[in-house]
Amino acid sequence: MVTAIVGANWGDEGKGKITDMLAETSDIIIRFQGGANAGHTIINDYGKFALHTLPSGVFYDHTTSIIGNGVALDIPKLFREIRDIEEKGVPTPKILVSDRAQMVMPYHVLLDGYEEERLAGKSFGSTKSGIAPFYSDKYAKIGFQVSELFDDEESLRDKIGRVITQKNVLLEHLYHKPLLTVDEVYATLMEYKEMVSPYVCDVSAFLYEAIKAGKKILLEGQLGSMKDPDHGIYPMVTSSSTLAAYGAIGAGIPPYEIKKIVTVVKAYSSAVGAGEFVSEIFGDEADELRRRGGDGGEFGATTGRPRRMGWFDCVATRYGCRIQGTTDVAFTVLDVLGYLDEIPVCVGYEIDGEITKDFPVTTKLKKAKPVYEKLPGWKTEIRGITRYEDLPENCRNYIEFIEKEIGFPITMVSNGPGRHEIIYRNK
Ligand code: GDP
Repeated sequence: MVTAIVGANWGDEGKGKITDMLAETSDIIIRFQGGANAGHTIINDYGKFALHTLPSGVFYDHTTSIIGNGVALDIPKLFREIRDIEEKGVPTPKILVSDRAQMVMPYHVLLDGYEEERLAGKSFGSTKSGIAPFYSDKYAKIGFQVSELFDDEESLRDKIGRVITQKNVLLEHLYHKPLLTVDEVYATLMEYKEMVSPYVCDVSAFLYEAIKAGKKILLEGQLGSMKDPDHGIYPMVTSSSTLAAYGAIGAGIPPYEIKKIVTVVKAYSSAVGAGEFVSEIFGDEADELRRRGGDGGEFGATTGRPRRMGWFDCVATRYGCRIQGTTDVAFTVLDVLGYLDEIPVCVGYEIDGEITKDFPVTTKLKKAKPVYEKLPGWKTEIRGITRYEDLPENCRNYIEFIEKEIGFPITMVSNGPGRHEIIYRNK
């Protein structure tokens, strides 16, 4: 059976923790999109980890971790990550890399940085990991698949030559930076080949057999619905689809095999990078939530950047859950809100004098003002509680109010960053 774990918001909802938790009883965990630009923070028996490319199931002996064809594969970063977890005592994970995954090339990282520099104040807030240039090249059909590392030298050099001719025009005339050479790019690719060779696999064929054999498979999404290039807050989105449906493509499995879609929703809002964020808060109110948020504060796992903070947004989350095709909501980081006397929740948007609960397109979103309802806080620590009935009444009311507003069942409540800090609700 295949379960997707995806985000309903702007990312950083706690997908890593939910994946790590569900991986305990799963066989295979797959990353199907995105790259090393975002991170998942995981706390378990081995310590605290920030994973960027590796799936969050790498901490178990019994799991196979897969980098699917939809991922932007940065080979040196992947291997640095494997080394890091091994150094912290995690057993060498079993990893497979799709032969159809495309590689982030060194010039993608350079071009990403140069473009952000050029755009200066008008930049997209890229993490400069090369993701946007990578996906641009993939769809312009000038990207490099892992399988091409095993092509003959002449064909590979020939293709490198054609691609870098175009890159060098940009480097010389737009960015005024050093140019690329075929020898240098070819040598880098040969280093990548040596690193990745033992792991290369026909992943869709492997998964076809695994599904037939009844294996339990998790698809782990990166970022959330708001960052989807089609359904999110375009253009302030990421470059690959963040939706569960894309799991079928980015892993190479039939779409009807995805039986369960666990959408992770955070009990308040946070976002990184630029873009519309209707329920954003500022000043001391934001600083306090940021400082108390997540595990040790809301700061980027990849960049360390302070995240933008906001109250829970029912409009965005209802839409975010709908567009994911949610079967279950995992409601996370609820414990953090225990300090508040009352908790504002955004229940509608006011756009041109009218109130709506429907999430609009970006041009209208720009004009939206939040409509808040205030719920009473519970003013107590809820970590350590394991049964839903034992949560304070106001805390249950908060969960149930949000469940009604978003219209999808909250079947899991996470009340701490640890692997077993979870309350299941039978719905
Ligand atoms: P992801 O990208 O969706 O995996 O999310 P991140 O890892 O960026 O952010 C989630 C942060 O919240 C991490 O630091 C987690 O350890 C932490 N976290 C996850 N669930 C909970 C929870 O229920 N309570 C608290 N306090 N922290 C949590």
